[in-house]
Parts: sequence; C-alpha cells; structure tokens
Amino acid sequence: MALQRDSQALWDQRIERARVLAETYPFAAQVLAFYQEVAAFQKSLLSGFQPASGNGKERAGDLPFQDCLDLASLLPRFPSFLSLVARVGTPVLAQAAEKLAREEPGHWEELLSACWKTGGSAAEGVEEAHVFFARAFLQPCAEELARRRATELPRFGSSTCAICGGKPQVGVLREEGHGAKRSLVCSLCLTEWDYRRVICPACGEDEFAKLSAYTASQFDHMRVEACETCKIYINTVDLTKNGLAIPIVDELAAIPLNLWAQENGYTKLQRNLLGL
Ligand SMILES: [Zn+2]
Ligand SMILES: [Zn+2]
Repeated sequence: MALQRDSQALWDQRIERARVLAETYPFAAQVLAFYQEVAAFQKSLLSGFQPASGNGKERAGDLPFQDCLDLASLLPRFPSFLSLVARVGTPVLAQAAEKLAREEPGHWEELLSACWKTGGSAAEGVEEAHVFFARAFLQPCAEELARRRATELPRFGSSTCAICGGKPQVGVLREEGHGAKRSLVCSLCLTEWDYRRVICPACGEDEFAKLSAYTASQFDHMRVEACETCKIYINTVDLTKNGLAIPIVDELAAIPLNLWAQENGYTKLQRNLLGL
C-alpha cells in the first residue's frame, strides 16, 4: 500500500537526520544514537499495522480517533520494544523496561490505553518513566492513523492537537511571504498545525513584551520560546534558516537549550520522547 511505503520513508529520513545531527553535535550523540534505535523499532511497528475496524460497518476514518487503535493486535510487539530499551536505553530507562517486562500483559494494556486517551501525556496513576514507553510505542500508530484521517485543520488552531488531543512537542517556523509563519507539531501523532506567532501555547499570553525568544550560538536554527507569565517554554525549529531540519529530530539535539531554560526557571510544555 502506497501510504505505508511513504510512512516507512519518513522514518528512514528521521533516522538519517539523527545520524547527521549526531556528527554535528557530539554532546547529543548518545541521545541521538538511542533515538535511531527507537525510530527503527517505530518504523518496524508499522509493517502490518491495521487500524481498528469498528463494528465492521464503519471505516476507521469514521470512528472517533480514540477508538481507532486496535491495541490487542499491537500488544504482542510490546515485549520486543521493552527488550530493545533494556539493551540500549539509559540505565534509568533500561531498569524501567526490565521492571515493565515482568508485568502481566494486562498491565501493559492499561498503560498504553491510558496514555492513548490522554494524547500521550502522563495519565493518572501512570509512572512518569513509563510514559516514555507508551508514547514511543504508540507514536507511529498515532501518526499513521492521523495521516489516514485527512481532517481539515483550522487555520490558527488551538494549543492542543485537534486530532489526538496531544500537547505540542516543538514549534516550527516556515517561510511565508516575506516572513515566517509558526506551526506546532503534536507530541503523539506528529500532526503539524498553524499557530499564531505571538501567543504562548501554554497559557494564551499574547502580550509581546511577555514572550521571549532565546538563541544559542551553536544552534542558529533553533530557539527557546518562553513565556514570562506562566514560565513555560517550547523549543522552535526555524526552517527558514535550515531547510534540512526535521523538527522532532532536531529538537532532540537541543540539550543545551533545555538545560539553559530549566536553569533559568522555565518548564518545558511537553518533554520530548527521550524525557528531555
Ligand atoms: Zn496529535
Ligand atoms: Zn504562558
């Protein structure tokens, strides 16, 4: 099916981008090497992936997004993801993977289902460390399901994803006319939607003086966009400065920006896949 081949190519591009970035930014090499392993697994998860078929009368595209996932068919793949992370993850993640691997499949199903319903954020009763497993495992399926929906996204949408309800992971600046327009990328289904430039996606502050952008010399195409009212920040990738960037991958390399923001009292709107 053509659509699936396209998705596979997307994951290949992300993996290749991570490899290139790891050479450019040695301080992020370890994080990006781990991401390449995770992304290769995410790509493999797509082969044979099928959306839930509802009651047989409706097509998956007609079901509410939250009901499109056939978790039962995916669950048998979860143990191989856990063993991958136990092998190549950080000590904290590896330990969490080993602990999760000893749980019953019913526990995995609860974890995945809870995170699916919240758009990939921490659900009540779910350990923070376990959100990584759920989000990484569900992300390719969410992206694939979102791509099949062809939902018309509103120009200047809300601060959460209109498709899955996820929080934005990263901002993007793209060329438009003589300037740049901003969009946000969903942390779960990776849908990108237009968003006004001068507004905080966390609290809605739109007073120019309360919104700051910070840059670091080693990343001329990335910046921290922070709000002085709620002290929340999001990293933004400026594609007008580097057209080769892939926002969700480049953002993983922005470790110094995250450290700087956190040392200066800002909290990230949504931690990335690797918990940074
Ligand atoms: Zn989404
Ligand atoms: Zn704010």
